[in-house]
Amino acid sequence: MPIYAYKCSACGHAEDEMQKVSDAPLTKGPKCGAEAYGKQLTAAGFALKGNGYYVTDFKNGQAKPEAPSCGAAGGCPCATSN
Ligand SMILES: [Zn+2]
Repeated sequence: MPIYAYKCSACGHAEDEMQKVSDAPLTKGPKCGAEAYGKQLTAAGFALKGNGYYVTDFKNGQAKPEAPSCGAAGGCPCATSN
């Protein structure tokens, strides 16, 4: 079940909410009750929206530089048919 980062724009309360994909998005802040609660772009979501430059740059300081570009753990399945 995916976890969405939510934030209330009324009071600033932020929380991760576990929801089914089929569930309607939450709109009501759990703290203040304002109808100002909405999904946030997560860091991972932001990176996936890019062209890969940021992901590569991030990995250079965190993991092996020779990691496959697809990011799969234990090897790149994209390359098995090569
Ligand atoms: Zn709130």
